[in-house]
Amino acid sequence: MRPPRSRRSVAPVLIAAPATLVLNERMIADDLVEPFEIEPFQLRGRLVRLGPTLDSIVKRHDYPPAVGTVLGEAIALAVALSSTLKYDGVFTLQTKGDGPIRLLVADVTTGGAVRGYAQYDPAKLAEVAASGGAASVPRLLGAGYLAFTVDQGEDTERYQGIVALEGATLAECVHHYFRQSEQIAAGIKVAVDRDAQGAWRGGCLLIQKLPDGERSEFLGTREELEDGWRRALILMGSATSQELTDPELAPEDLLFRLFHEDGVRVFRTHAVRAECRCSRERIDRVLRSLPFEERQDLGEADGSMTVTCQFCNASYRFERADVAAIATG
Ligand SMILES: [Zn+2]
Repeated sequence: MRPPRSRRSVAPVLIAAPATLVLNERMIADDLVEPFEIEPFQLRGRLVRLGPTLDSIVKRHDYPPAVGTVLGEAIALAVALSSTLKYDGVFTLQTKGDGPIRLLVADVTTGGAVRGYAQYDPAKLAEVAASGGAASVPRLLGAGYLAFTVDQGEDTERYQGIVALEGATLAECVHHYFRQSEQIAAGIKVAVDRDAQGAWRGGCLLIQKLPDGERSEFLGTREELEDGWRRALILMGSATSQELTDPELAPEDLLFRLFHEDGVRVFRTHAVRAECRCSRERIDRVLRSLPFEERQDLGEADGSMTVTCQFCNASYRFERADVAAIATG
């Protein structure tokens, strides 16, 4: 991943007291990314809160809890990571493995449209569930890889970062990626849970050291800077799953609770929403781009076919004549 640049566009608000000062920033209470900086130690972060966005994605597919949880983590991580990058297009986080959940895909557009899906083997998943123990990455996803892609459209360079699935949780795998790829140091914490009504909720905290080019002069010693970094990681680690996902706890209040002693600034929040980008035209284009031989095999016995979007379950019907046109086109 390219060293991300901050997307701040408005003057920061210093949280000096529990965030009553930033009432106007609370227009969005859920499904958001809250950028922040722990300025004295040249750290920046993102707090992600997901409510209806995550719930609608997971429930649309009626995924079992273990799949919903890890897909929710992938989505929360994708939202957090994408928000640190300056790009105009689509950011994708994907895992592939030989475990019961063979594929996870979460993608986020610059405009905040989020979608995701999982492919899993119900029988293998039941086996893992029956054997008890933690729902860890090795047990659920198996051996495989985690990939990040930034796609900014045709005629642009496509960025891809890839790392082996190493870690007990998806957050650990992402952390492993940061370490491997010699990126700026980062700490990540992610939580996915269901509320009393059974609605899926997610949260993510990401802290990074500012890249060299974006640092202002630090007046203290190098040790003091490192101490500030280590303290921020410990404080981040102290955030509970409940705090990360609780819709009653305003993001600013959580950041204040965690980091107020070091001075935390919050920036304008970005909204995210569940939204798919599929369309009949898009599917038509994909089908027409298949090799000639594969296009000959399209269609059911009666020549027609229905294509279902894996992300949102929308179905697109192609009549016999449409299929024939694609095959010969
Ligand atoms: Zn779709």
